[in-house]
Amino acid sequence: MLSHLECARCGREHDANAVQNLCHECASPLLARYDLTRVGRPTDENSLWRYRDVLPVRNPDPAFSLGEGMTPLVGLPAISRHLDATVLMKDESLIPTGSFKARGAAVGVARAKELGIEGIKMPTNGNAGAAWALYAARAGLRSVIAMPEDAPLITREEVEASGAELRIVPGTIADAGKAVADVDLFDASTLREPYRIEGKKTMGYEIVEQLGWRVPDVIIYPTGGGVGLIGIHKALNEMLELGWITGKLPRLVAVQSTGCAPIVKAFDEGRAESVFWDAAYTDAFGINVPKPLGDFIILQAIRETNGTAIAVTDEQIAHDRAETARLEGVFLCPEGAATISAVRALRANGWLNAQDEVVVLNTGAGIKYPAVRL
Ligand SMILES: *Cc1c(COP(=O)(O)O)cnc(C)c1O
Ligand SMILES: [Zn+2]
Repeated sequence: MLSHLECARCGREHDANAVQNLCHECASPLLARYDLTRVGRPTDENSLWRYRDVLPVRNPDPAFSLGEGMTPLVGLPAISRHLDATVLMKDESLIPTGSFKARGAAVGVARAKELGIEGIKMPTNGNAGAAWALYAARAGLRSVIAMPEDAPLITREEVEASGAELRIVPGTIADAGKAVADVDLFDASTLREPYRIEGKKTMGYEIVEQLGWRVPDVIIYPTGGGVGLIGIHKALNEMLELGWITGKLPRLVAVQSTGCAPIVKAFDEGRAESVFWDAAYTDAFGINVPKPLGDFIILQAIRETNGTAIAVTDEQIAHDRAETARLEGVFLCPEGAATISAVRALRANGWLNAQDEVVVLNTGAGIKYPAVRL
């Protein structure tokens, strides 16, 4: 049961029954808090709505769901042998809209509708805009979406097909943000809206449930805005409080491209926040975020769990994308392939042991990226 919203930086409480963006005091992201004494076990729904007691939507409409969530957690035996590691993949390619952004969109749009919001606006690198525009169409909400001109064509087409207004801008997602500043609709951009993270956190619940209510040693996440990583950390802490898991949390790893690695740089330099990454570029467009709003929360989550942050090159990503297809029959998205490159690098430098059970996130479908070369 949703109780209130709490600022991730200053802790100030906000009313969860009102429409909210950032903290009124310090303009930081707000996190949903629940009355955890009133949480039942997951239902038997085959979607993320099985965790309804730790989701913010008070009256979920079963007819709204497209079946988002409960994606498979599968072994990668050949890659594991090849890298001398123990790797499982949470495969988000099988989700509606072809990326895990559907989790955040399903929950965020459902909550927006419940709060009486008429329409949403957001800058995006592609997948989030596609997912939010499509779920908004399902809910009957308006949407205005801005994306960089080099965002994948397929995501533009999804947005246009949904009937949303699409604005294409030169530059990065930061420039796309400026392109919707004048639009008078609810700002649903990453972490400026408190409920997207609640949808994404269900990846954490699912990983634990699918392992038989225990945690892996390590979780590796391709990090752009970091919502999924923050969400998984939040889910793990909620499950600790609920008594659904005990003991040490998995070490959380943020992987980025060397073309855009603000979190890795901040982690290496021991900083609490990142610095804007100039001229950011990577083929793994989902993680091309030069200065995430939630950088301090990502860095806290990594440090608190004794995790790490690592950058890999686009060449290595392309190589591991092809190798995983060849060895496993799995065509990863570039962001997902970056997690395999991270396993490779972290085994090579000894940070990972062969016995560590590692869960990597394949955050989207490889077939959404026809223009990315291998
Ligand atoms: C958005 C996106 C990411 C990064 O997600 P965050 O939670 O914002 O860090 C990774 N992979 C894909 C395919 C994405 O679309
Ligand atoms: Zn605050």
